[in-house]
Formats: sequence, C-alpha cells, structure tokens
Amino acid sequence: MANIKVCLSFDFDAVSIWVGPRGTRSPNLISRGEFGAKVGAGRMLRLLADEAIPSTWFVPGHTIDTFPEICREIADAGHEVGYHGYCHEGPTSKRPLDEERSILLRSIECIERISGRAPVGHRLPGGNLGERWTRLLLEHGFSYDSSMAPHDFATTYHRLGDVPRTDAAYEFGREVDLVILPFDWNMDDAPYFSYEPGSGRPGLRSPDEVRQIWQDEFDYLVGRVGEGVYVLTMHPQTTGKGSRMLMLERLIAHMKSVDGIEFTTLAAVAEEFRVANPLPD
Ligand SMILES: [Zn+2]
Repeated sequence: MANIKVCLSFDFDAVSIWVGPRGTRSPNLISRGEFGAKVGAGRMLRLLADEAIPSTWFVPGHTIDTFPEICREIADAGHEVGYHGYCHEGPTSKRPLDEERSILLRSIECIERISGRAPVGHRLPGGNLGERWTRLLLEHGFSYDSSMAPHDFATTYHRLGDVPRTDAAYEFGREVDLVILPFDWNMDDAPYFSYEPGSGRPGLRSPDEVRQIWQDEFDYLVGRVGEGVYVLTMHPQTTGKGSRMLMLERLIAHMKSVDGIEFTTLAAVAEEFRVANPLPD
C-alpha cells in the first residue's frame, strides 16, 4: 500500500500581490484579490470542511490586516498558517538586514494575532532564499520552507555554504535544521490559470487539462514511487472560480479513491521528517 502525504497549500495573497510587487493601483486587478478574500477563500474553506481536509495557508500580514475575519476563520478551522511576507515582498540583499528582520517580525506578529502562535512554515512570496534570509528563518524558529524542489516528492534539508564554482564542480554546503518541502511551478495554479493583461502570461488553461497534469503527478507518486509528499499550491483568487473548484473536487475524489493516502499539513510532514532523519549535532 502506498504511503503518501497530500498537502493542499494556499497562498492567500489577496490584494497584497497587486499593490505590493505588481505596484498597480488598477481597481480591476485589485478586485481580483478582493474576490479571493471575500469569495474564493470562503469557498475553499467550505470544500476543505466538507472533505475533512487539513491544509496549510501562507498568509501575508497585509492580508491579515485587510481581511481579518476570513483569516481568523482559516485559523479557527484548524488550518496551519504560514509566513508569506508582509505585503508579498521577497527577501533581497538590497534591503538592510534590520529592514528585512522587521518585515519578518511584523508578519509573524500578524499571524500570532489570528492564530495564537508564531508560524513554523515559510513560503517565499518572491525573490530568492539567500543565506541571510535562511539564517533569519533559523533564528526565528522556522521549521520548514516550501519554496523550492530539489526533489519533487521527498522532504530534504536546506544547506548553508554552497559554493557555486564555475571552474570546478559545484560545492554543496552543510545541511541545516530547516526542512525543504517541495514547491514547483507545475504544481501551482497561477501559471496555468492566472491571466495578466500585457504580461505575456496566457493563463486560462482548461481546468480538465490541469487536473490531468496534477492527477498524473499524483498517480506517478503512488504507482512508481510509492511513498512521499505531494504538495499542491493554489490561490483563492485563482482556483476559487467555479470551474476550477469543480476540478479540485474531482482531483480530491480521485486521491481519496487510493489506499494509503493521508491529507495533512506541511508542518506535520516537516516534523515527522525531522524526527525520522535527525541532523548530526
Ligand atoms: Zn504569493
């Protein structure tokens, strides 16, 4: 029997992505984030409740400050709430360390306010997970990051001290106590569905086509790999639309038809991995 953990994760960007990194003041685009917070997230919460599925939500502090009620509902329903920037800003070496730290702390405080606890999970809203940011996450007690995928279905540890040489082999650094849970764009709804005028991003793919890709990834994990973690990333403003919600219902039904599947949070998978694979002191 397969031993598969399925993690449904949600990046609850709401309007932060539009007014933050996209820098737009277009009411049309901002309304898409508003839809995610006022309609999409509620639909998603109802589906998760009906299916009795625990999940992980990466919520920017800006979303919590702007739409506190729905964020509180997420936490009250027992879903994990993880870090996703304050206004969807990614780490950058161009910002002084103090500023980076204050963005992190402000966002942690927002999450504590609605969930009663500090986040243990992190997903990059943008930028790259440089060494400085990795050290900050370690300093502030984060358990895992879900922003990259050195393995598509396995859990691993982050490293510090890589040396990206070009005149000789790449040198890998030492593993540190920050777990990596896979994130990859082929398992994210945004590139498939999110149409942004003028961006060159076509989006608007058929939900059936996307379900087939996600289902094939799942079937490969079950049939060829046999054990591991399956992480799907969705945005309430994107997958919260009717046709995509029906697609997600069908995908969940398919997953539930397989023995040995457990729906769980990323935090739970990270903790289990850490216990089973402790780093040497
Ligand atoms: Zn995001």
